[in-house]
Amino acid sequence: MVLKDNLQAVEERIARAAARAGRKRADVTLIAVTKVFPAPAILEAYELGLREFGENYVQEFEGKAPQVAGLAGAQYHLIGHLQSNKTRKAAALFQVIQTVDSEKLARRLSEVGTPLDVFLEVKLSEEEAKWGAAPEDLAALVEVTRGQPNLRLRGLMTMPPWSEDQEKTRPYFARLRELACRHAVECLSMGMSNDFEAAIEEGATHIRVGTALFGKRKKA
Ligand SMILES: *Cc1c(COP(=O)(O)O)cnc(C)c1O
Repeated sequence: MVLKDNLQAVEERIARAAARAGRKRADVTLIAVTKVFPAPAILEAYELGLREFGENYVQEFEGKAPQVAGLAGAQYHLIGHLQSNKTRKAAALFQVIQTVDSEKLARRLSEVGTPLDVFLEVKLSEEEAKWGAAPEDLAALVEVTRGQPNLRLRGLMTMPPWSEDQEKTRPYFARLRELACRHAVECLSMGMSNDFEAAIEEGATHIRVGTALFGKRKKA
């Protein structure tokens, strides 16, 4: 019941932001971020029509995956950092890896042999972001990723420093859009519960929303 109301509120926020930007609702994919929440949260969201799910930890999702196997049309996105020794497991569990940030990781993922959609994670704030490729390394990473037989490069992803004020994160979103444009990459994964309106206005094609749907998380 709570999820249903939260989803409706999120949908209204998406619709208003898209309208302000002259964009169509259908051009924005809502990814429900279910990290820390148990498998029934995914099942409930699926019942309400959500099909894209984001998880941060390979190990955590491995535990839930058997309970959500067989949901037709469901797609799982890895949105947390991926260590190159977990590529095989990740490729078996997820259809989309949003956190490719090195040539080594791109090669390792492709070598697993499972076709995967990938986003390149970009680090736009030197001090605060732990993961992500530096913008100056992006050209080489794009080229290597495009050269991998089992990877399909979909877009760029970023996680700006957290702020209550959407106007503070907006410049990061604009920057990611510029980079996507420069490298002729189609999709932009940016915007979370507190700032997805600004992200949509700046061109987000994928927003990653946890708290606004499922409520506050207990610390993982
Ligand atoms: C947790 C997380 C989200 C969702 O954040 P909320 O503020 O709960 O919406 C989105 N993206 C990434 C990479 C995350 O780790």
